[in-house]
Amino acid sequence: MAIEWNLRGRSNTCGCCEKAFDDGEKLFSAVAITAAESIAPIIEKLGGSKDGKELPEYIRLDVCKECRKTLPKDAIISLWQGVYTAPEPPAPEALPRETAESLLRKLIEGEDNPDNVPVIFVLAVMLERKKILIERTVRHLPDGTLMRIYEHKKNGEVIFITDPNLSLEQIPIVQQRVAELLAPPPPAPVEQPAPASEETPTEETPAEAPSTEE
Ligand SMILES: [Zn+2]
Repeated sequence: MAIEWNLRGRSNTCGCCEKAFDDGEKLFSAVAITAAESIAPIIEKLGGSKDGKELPEYIRLDVCKECRKTLPKDAIISLWQGVYTAPEPPAPEALPRETAESLLRKLIEGEDNPDNVPVIFVLAVMLERKKILIERTVRHLPDGTLMRIYEHKKNGEVIFITDPNLSLEQIPIVQQRVAELLAPPPPAPVEQPAPASEETPTEETPAEAPSTEE
């Protein structure tokens, strides 16, 4: 399945000449097939497959304007121009609330479940409308699957999303499922501390009887 969240975001330096990008500098980002011979020298420079660790099928590359011409065309499946933005310090997380983005991450990083493919796709479309993700390339895979390559606008992460080709009837069903997943969980019942005073109103709430096994 061609779902992959390449967690490496936009690089701080050019993948070819290793020059550090300046804030606001125009750069070129690419998705390359690691199996291509021609990309091997660049992968080597980036650290390659150290410790014999297997390379991912695709890598994300960021290069400066000058180095763009040196990119091996046959290895590149997606190329776009972007702007480097210096990383912001991480904002203190307020309440851990499930957002479309956090849910998408969770689903992609979780188990490979074919049932999640439509949900992942709808979430990606939602995030695209919110301008959080930018669609960079649409590719037809040899098996007929439609793969959409998105870039996270802020940090440049590249995400591969399989387009499940939803029918008009399926869309509302998937949207409903997404809404359910995003709905905040019902507030946990608040445990009342045992009141110290004797003025305990003795009403309703019967003590929870332990359920008897049948
Ligand atoms: Zn360069």
